Amino acid sequence: MPMPLLFVCCLALLLWPPRTAAEDLSIRFQGDFTSAEKQKLTLWLEHSAATLSTVSGRFPLEQANIRVTATHNGRGPVPWARVIRHRQEGIHFYVDPGYPAQAYYDDWTALHEFSHLLIPYPGDNDIWFSEGLASYYQNLLRGRSGVVTPQQALEDLDAGFRRGEKDARRKRRSLRELSPAMWRTGSYMRVYWSGAAYFLTVDMALRTERDTSLDRVLSDFIACCRQLNRQWNAATLIATLDRLSESELFSYYHRQIIDDRAFPDLSEPYQQLGLIRTSTGLKMSQSAEAIESRKALFRVPDPTD
Ligand SMILES: [Zn+2]
Repeated sequence: MPMPLLFVCCLALLLWPPRTAAEDLSIRFQGDFTSAEKQKLTLWLEHSAATLSTVSGRFPLEQANIRVTATHNGRGPVPWARVIRHRQEGIHFYVDPGYPAQAYYDDWTALHEFSHLLIPYPGDNDIWFSEGLASYYQNLLRGRSGVVTPQQALEDLDAGFRRGEKDARRKRRSLRELSPAMWRTGSYMRVYWSGAAYFLTVDMALRTERDTSLDRVLSDFIACCRQLNRQWNAATLIATLDRLSESELFSYYHRQIIDDRAFPDLSEPYQQLGLIRTSTGLKMSQSAEAIESRKALFRVPDPTD
């Protein structure tokens, strides 16, 4: 690792997270945990919640209901997790408590699940919107918090898009058809990564055309609307995000992708970020403009902006 990157990375880890999040979470453990394991997992959950809070400067819910169940079945430190949507919203994690602390921070699951909490659930028909946002932010937050380098985060996003493209070529059906049929047709890659491609495209358009960002629009959404007691779907969320961003970018790109049988076209955001695909990975353009847009994407937003 070159010196400047090492410096940036370790500085980021020292300053991270910017605030504690104990009050944002109500954590309940179920099953066989020692008190040391509970302490280790609580710190990891609070750190993940604090990382999510950097998107908008605050945690998106008054308090999240976090359940942690011990399991020794399945792979890795967090074999399974799901968002709790009824009554008090939150996340149910199934964790293998025997791993060293760092293994939980390196795992992508917590940042994916916490990112789901940025917006309300748009319903099964529009699951692409929910999974897309979580898959996009899971990678942004890993890059911003120093779990991986920004370059690695972009490579991980690109690898996801390639899996989505492969699935789209196999299925040859639109996102509008496949999103409600995701479980039945096994179209997870197509649905998750088309949604992430949508959010990357909209985010880059907001940054280049409107001098704002998805972070800021979500921050406004969390302030006005996140905890309203109402039913949402992708159409009502998109209309609200358009209004908050004083743009039509959310609806414009929605129209571009929703009935297309092919995977969303990534040429605009890739060009803005200076990303050039090779047969196996990504090359990064070294133009000053491209370097600055990549830096801006991985900069922690200033909530006072
Ligand atoms: Zn998810």
